[in-house]
Amino acid sequence: MIIKPKVRGFVCVTAHPEGCAAHVQEWIAHVRAQGPIAQGPKKVLVIGSSTGYGLASRIAAAFGSGAATLGVFFERPSEEGRPATPGWYNTIAFTNAARAAGLHAANLNGDAFSDDIKKQALDLIRADLGQVDLVVYSLASPRRTHPTTGVVHKSVLKPLGASYTNKTVDTDKGIVSTVTIEPANEAEIADTTAVMGGEDWELWMNALDGAGVLKEGCQTVAYSYIGPQVTWPIYKDGTIGKAKEDLERAGRKIDDLMKLHRGRAFVSVNKAVVTQASSAIPVVPLYVSLLFKIMKAKGTHEGCIEQIQRLFEKQMYNGNALDFDEHGRVRIDDWEMAPDVQKAVFDAWPLVTTETFDAHADFAGYQSDFMKNFGFGLAGIDYEAPTEVERPIEDA
Ligand code: NAD
Repeated sequence: MIIKPKVRGFVCVTAHPEGCAAHVQEWIAHVRAQGPIAQGPKKVLVIGSSTGYGLASRIAAAFGSGAATLGVFFERPSEEGRPATPGWYNTIAFTNAARAAGLHAANLNGDAFSDDIKKQALDLIRADLGQVDLVVYSLASPRRTHPTTGVVHKSVLKPLGASYTNKTVDTDKGIVSTVTIEPANEAEIADTTAVMGGEDWELWMNALDGAGVLKEGCQTVAYSYIGPQVTWPIYKDGTIGKAKEDLERAGRKIDDLMKLHRGRAFVSVNKAVVTQASSAIPVVPLYVSLLFKIMKAKGTHEGCIEQIQRLFEKQMYNGNALDFDEHGRVRIDDWEMAPDVQKAVFDAWPLVTTETFDAHADFAGYQSDFMKNFGFGLAGIDYEAPTEVERPIEDA
């Protein structure tokens, strides 16, 4: 069938298989162009490997340092002619490319929060990899079924204490408006922490440790975000920020465990990029559109793959170069948080309206990244040509 983008709010409900493959190839090409990552990881588990920062981590490990990878993700295959989710097609493209390069690549599609998927991952690691030397935890999910209680926790993106009013942008139409978000109650804070906090990362690492599949020197990293003061009420100081505090708590606990293997655990604070997860957060897409313009003008703009390739090459696998902030986090958001960049955002913020949006923001860049996440707008793809939507991952 011929697949066209169908954007509904902050998601696109269609995805293009060849376009997703071309997107994955762009990321692979970036990693290859940077050259090999000396002393990089060799056997890697990526939890949340099919899109965004997790996919970038898998690509950087495989094509930057020849790593065998096991990817865990939760994606929907095609159904009755309806295209699969982008992460499904990304995974096929990654797996094809990895195997063509002689690299082992195994995939597990299912709920990473469940005991069953953890058990299946342990079995696959034992069978194929023996042990892992890197575990990347990169889940972004709106809900989590707790493995012991069976309770379904739903995360919310809300401020704490008081309502929050600020500008936001309709990422489909480019209309700048004002949004007010009411504060979360205690149950919503607890639920968001249950989904996006660190308990599940701890469960994974304890399970891997218990199965004896953590290699001496193994590292584990989970990703977080801080961002500018304009978004703090909805991000850093909101429900998601509380969850990220819990992720850091878990990171410290897991670090104690990893030390027994002469390894380490830490949280990396990454830059704001356009992913399925970040598109859903009010206010953030407006900030990201302004940020892109400023960072592109300065020559410091990065997407997921540039961020993770830099994290691996310059920090994690560069001798003792890991550079922690006062809270023990690695800051690969350093170029975003540079004072001159933040000042430029701060100065532009009050001036942005629908009419001035194009002058202040890189909306074309935002939209292009958004569409690419679904396999649209890639060079060399004939979007008028029919394509096969049904593609099994098993055959990849
Ligand atoms: P994303 O939506 O692109 O990717 C999420 C991944 O998690 C996908 O591979 C998806 O399949 C997987 N997943 C979701 N629920 C799952 C489940 N139940 N079982 C198995 N897999 C599941 O998200 P992203 O933006 O790359 O976010 C990844 C991490 O990076 C998050 O912790 C996020 O907070 C952090 N981060 C994101 C940004 C940003 O701007 N996007 C910035 C800094 C940090």
